Amino acid sequence: MPTGLSVFRKALNVSVPLTMDSPEQYMAVALAEARLAAERGEVPIGAVLVDNSGQMIAQSGNRTIELCDPGAHAEMLVLRQAGRLRGNYRLLDTTLYVTLEPCVMCAGALVHARVSRLVYGAVDPKAGGVVSLFQVGQDTRLNHLLDVEGGLLADECATLLRAFFRQRRGGAAAGIGQERLQSR
Ligand SMILES: [Zn+2]
Repeated sequence: MPTGLSVFRKALNVSVPLTMDSPEQYMAVALAEARLAAERGEVPIGAVLVDNSGQMIAQSGNRTIELCDPGAHAEMLVLRQAGRLRGNYRLLDTTLYVTLEPCVMCAGALVHARVSRLVYGAVDPKAGGVVSLFQVGQDTRLNHLLDVEGGLLADECATLLRAFFRQRRGGAAAGIGQERLQSR
């Protein structure tokens, strides 16, 4: 019997834009990207950008090692790809789904791109820039605020990261997903 993820993996290979109807399905696509990243030896984080009609605009996993680019986090790659596709660096009326709470760089890029909403999976107590260490996207000194929701499929997202780091370093990823945050 095909699992949900295998269905989404298959879906990743089709070229037509996909529309789904639940946040869990979008996060499952982000998770599939995270698993593909792990297979490439990258930290397993995946992201997908969705417009207000539910159409997926862009999706990616981390590619920092492959591209020798410290900025090649999944979120950044998705924003760049979506900007090129739309012919506009402002990505209004979109939601970014990502498996881990974004870092400060990615959170800043979400603000620059004017993304409306962020939905993340696991919290990142060590480097999270949205709720954990900093509150980029919630700070009224910046000229754009993000609607933020955390904790979607958090266990799955965190388990993937922990397994990856356990395998790579013989130890668990420090703290990832150990603190659960919900909508704020
Ligand atoms: Zn980042």
